[in-house]
Amino acid sequence: MWRGGACLRARRVILKKSMPETADSSPSLNVPDALRLRIDRDALSHNWRLLDEMSGAAQAGAAVKADAYGLGAELAVQVLRDAGTQQFFVAHWREIPPLLAHIPASAIAVLHGPANSAQAEYARAIGARPVINSLHQARLWQAAGGGTCALMIDTGMNRLGVEPALVTAPEIAALKPDLVLSHLASADEDVPQTAAQLSLFRAASAEFPNARRSLANSAGIALGPDYAFDLTRPGLALYGGTPRAELAGLIRQVAVPQVEVLQIRQLAAGDKVGYNAIFTAPHALKAATVAIGYADGFLRSRGPGGGLLHQGVALPIIGRVSMDMVVVDCSMADDLHEGDWLDVPFDLPRIAEASTLTQYELLTTLGRRFTRV
Ligand SMILES: *Cc1c(COP(=O)(O)O)cnc(C)c1O
Repeated sequence: MWRGGACLRARRVILKKSMPETADSSPSLNVPDALRLRIDRDALSHNWRLLDEMSGAAQAGAAVKADAYGLGAELAVQVLRDAGTQQFFVAHWREIPPLLAHIPASAIAVLHGPANSAQAEYARAIGARPVINSLHQARLWQAAGGGTCALMIDTGMNRLGVEPALVTAPEIAALKPDLVLSHLASADEDVPQTAAQLSLFRAASAEFPNARRSLANSAGIALGPDYAFDLTRPGLALYGGTPRAELAGLIRQVAVPQVEVLQIRQLAAGDKVGYNAIFTAPHALKAATVAIGYADGFLRSRGPGGGLLHQGVALPIIGRVSMDMVVVDCSMADDLHEGDWLDVPFDLPRIAEASTLTQYELLTTLGRRFTRV
């Protein structure tokens, strides 16, 4: 639902205190946009249902950290909740409040866990589930009163989690976690590390026979039932990413960025374009300047060699990507006019390969200037 009207009204109240009334504060005025992120809700629910089915007897949860990988966590949790998701994962405590309008705190697990007593108390106060990652966090959680929690076991990534040798420590035994996790470091490749992590996880999690177990991220789900346990934690693949070939052709694209054409100009042979003039027109051509730049996650590595789409036809990028703008050669698009919209290619595996960015980076660097529609 679009809540722009309500937002504007709220803003008007604040503005009134410090500023004179302006036309822009009229409650009926729509804020014009030049950058849109079209989110395909059907594709998002399709991807979750597919990953849930591929998880076999296990249930699929959803990683919605980092604003659902940049797509907008509030929209994502509503779609995922309606599709059947019951367990959501965020990284930071700060990520919880916007979600509480749509899902209960008890459905949210916080992967970073409580790093201090304020965070442990916050978790207790709202009823969110902390993921305990260390003996220090275990003590903090118990000191705050303890209760329902998850336990992350580090099985070789050496990033976050309790070492297998420490799961028998009294601090950990006292926790009584009802969910035990570990995270795969290299499930998107075919390397022996993945199977090694699986057997370490089997052994270490056996200490907690009453807890549900969870190991697989998106790539892990593609590895089959051995990796699924009771709960899987897809992120990337929900949002259109394809971390393993097994998922190719099954996962649907969820996000389509679109951008407005600001200006069209005629270039003569020898004319230069953009910062540092890295492009010189080899012949006369028509160039369109559009309203997307590296501040919107359209990083410089998506510049020359990449393109934007006009009715499915690629218009090559010329010159350097600026903060707010990029220029394309639109000589072949006779019917393109200032104010028209172009599609930004966002087939994640393909763009990742062409731009040297990962599919994760392409999603999570999408900026804040998009209107999500
Ligand atoms: C981010 C994250 C996930 C999701 O991983 P994807 O590769 O995006 O599917 C799952 N578990 C943990 C612990 C994570 O940090």
